[in-house]
Amino acid sequence: VAPGPLDKAATGPVEDAKPDSAELIRFDKVVKRFGDNTVLDHLDFSVRKGEHVTLIGPSGSGKTTILRLLMTLEQVSEGVVWVGGEPLSHERKADGSLRPASEKYQRQARKKIGMVFQQFNLFPNMNVLRNITEAPVTALGVPKPEAEARARELLDLVGLGDKADAHPTQLSGGQQQRVAIARALAMKPDILLLDEVTSALDPELVAGVLDVLRDIARTTDITLLCVTHEMSFARDISDRVLMFDAGRIVESGPPSQIFGEPREERTREFLRAVL
Ligand code: ADP
Repeated sequence: VAPGPLDKAATGPVEDAKPDSAELIRFDKVVKRFGDNTVLDHLDFSVRKGEHVTLIGPSGSGKTTILRLLMTLEQVSEGVVWVGGEPLSHERKADGSLRPASEKYQRQARKKIGMVFQQFNLFPNMNVLRNITEAPVTALGVPKPEAEARARELLDLVGLGDKADAHPTQLSGGQQQRVAIARALAMKPDILLLDEVTSALDPELVAGVLDVLRDIARTTDITLLCVTHEMSFARDISDRVLMFDAGRIVESGPPSQIFGEPREERTREFLRAVL
């Protein structure tokens, strides 16, 4: 879907932005500042439909901010974020130009995006099944029996078919995180954002969660954008790895390049420190 003309005054030099139809996500000269701190510095990148992309790099390099912009939990300072050929950070005025998006527009535009956080944030007062059906029923209007049938399928997918009636407090951290993954998938997102989903887990629970994600990556056509410190997981599931430093992409390539023969000294230095 070709975008309409852009409002230069509102968006800066982005008038040549033309996401091609295979591009599901596109960051166009995105700047994000918190006060004087420039966290993303004229960032350009895109993710194609079905691609599995992993963001690596030192702490504070801006990786999580990228996911938060896609969830519209943060707003760009400059530039435009596109999803599915439509602006996410902006909305079109009647004349086709862009202006910063309203909350209502963004709520609608981010429906195709799911996110799993470091802290699983399950609803503590609801059982597992209800945790998964709540949003599809209330936000999408899916009939309850249909939502429950789908939730049970998803619980099977994450290896928790027998936990539908359990409460979150009765589950291990790894099991809670698998429920959180099922909950995100219940909204049938086109894009799944994973933000260091294993970093709050005890080491012995990490493998189970990563296995579930590998399965999802292999068996679905979902587009994945992951921030992870698990380099072996990144190597396994990624089509492409983006190495970040100080709000910029230092190097980008297939995992065989990034982990096997990194071109940039900054990448080599980072990998020496974490591997
Ligand atoms: P990463 O995920 O690579 O560790 P982040 O995107 O979390 O990096 O953070 C990048 C920078 O943005 C850090 O310097 C962090 O302190 C800053 N930052 C993130 N969120 C906020 C916020 N809400 N307010 C102020 N600074 C923030």
